[in-house]
Amino acid sequence: MIVCKFGGSSVAEAQQIRKVKQIVDSDPRRQIVIVSAPGKRSKDDEKVTDMLYACNAMVQQGLSCKDLFKKVSLRYTTILSDLGMQVKPFLPVLEEVRQMIDAGHGAEYAASRGEYLAARMVAAFFGWEFLDTDPLIVINHDGTVNPQTWDNIKKALKPKVKYIVPGFYGCDPEGKVKTFSRGGSDITGAILSSASHAETYENWTDVSGVFSVDPRLIPDAKVIKEMTYREVRELAGVGAGVFHEEAIAPILASGIPINVKNTNAPQDAGTMILPTREIGDHTLVGVSAKGGLSRLSLRKLMLFKRTGIRHALLTMLHIFGVRPSFSLFGIDSIVWFFESSQASDSVLNAMCGRLKSEFDLEEVAVESGHAVVGIVGSGVMQDSSVIAKSTTALATDKITLNFFNYGSSDTSILIGVSGNQAQDAVKSIYRALF
Ligand code: ASP
Repeated sequence: MIVCKFGGSSVAEAQQIRKVKQIVDSDPRRQIVIVSAPGKRSKDDEKVTDMLYACNAMVQQGLSCKDLFKKVSLRYTTILSDLGMQVKPFLPVLEEVRQMIDAGHGAEYAASRGEYLAARMVAAFFGWEFLDTDPLIVINHDGTVNPQTWDNIKKALKPKVKYIVPGFYGCDPEGKVKTFSRGGSDITGAILSSASHAETYENWTDVSGVFSVDPRLIPDAKVIKEMTYREVRELAGVGAGVFHEEAIAPILASGIPINVKNTNAPQDAGTMILPTREIGDHTLVGVSAKGGLSRLSLRKLMLFKRTGIRHALLTMLHIFGVRPSFSLFGIDSIVWFFESSQASDSVLNAMCGRLKSEFDLEEVAVESGHAVVGIVGSGVMQDSSVIAKSTTALATDKITLNFFNYGSSDTSILIGVSGNQAQDAVKSIYRALF
């Protein structure tokens, strides 16, 4: 049995949903289909999820989302009529959702309705059963999957029944609708694959697999044929967009192969993501960069003499909502990189003030505009030329390194650069190594 997840562009309009049906019908093993909310139909279009977040934002300001929600309704009614389906039975469903958003059920409820409505619509078109993920998928408050989920799904799935399942959401342990982070339908697909012991998890998108480098930077970028769970996680962790980095965790224990494929070119083999792979000559799989990082640096003579100092500092960061992604330690200094979106300037100012006074630091500084470039591959530690070639290439292209992280993972090398040099750094390293 195969579990398929189709992303937002695959359900953005009727002609795409017809392609989905053709793909699913062409292999009877495809029995569970997860769908995202309708995405963009063209470059300037809006994603339904974004419109739903905007609806909720209006309600938070004390206004009704009635007018804005009309745009959401129109997306679904247009698809339904283009598919030759009856629109009328769907109108009360849309109206109920609108009323619930207006009643203040919150951002996660509002956003989740994009997938909910898409799955109801696709289920009706396919004539398959709609299986809601609320209350089956229980999402802990920290975003991890509650183990109760496995039992819930196993009990819900009946043999020989084909299901359409909404991606992106479940409920929290108290039963309130809760979403994963953006792009989280990949996680739903991984959960359903694991719970149903699927032979393959197919992840259908609008590109023919995971690229070794962003094709917008290198137009003849190649699709990676085969990569490991860890490689995809590391590559996604440094910004490669195709597969959600949190979607590996639910599938890890089961070892189910993931096949990333293109709804618009189903004949392409796509990328296979496996628990392990033969490294051979393919020491590396890709290079990518992630911007939007800030750097927090702290300095104090004999800083580490105080026992538990790192823990105490991190607790303070946590109070201000800052969760570092990378750390570096010197003899008297600590540097933490974190996503700039985690805290506003005023929050960071307050945090620096508290850090300085409570820990009697000589220096505390926050600087935004940083990026990290990741060179990813299971053989990265086996090929000593990788460091030499990449740093030489960066020096030749006059790109300044802010940090170099080798050895904290056996699957990647991380290089800190300034945000405005990140794309050049990726191009430079790609040309040198691939
Ligand atoms: N619709 C959600 C988003 O736009 C989740 C997903 O597409 O996977 O982030």
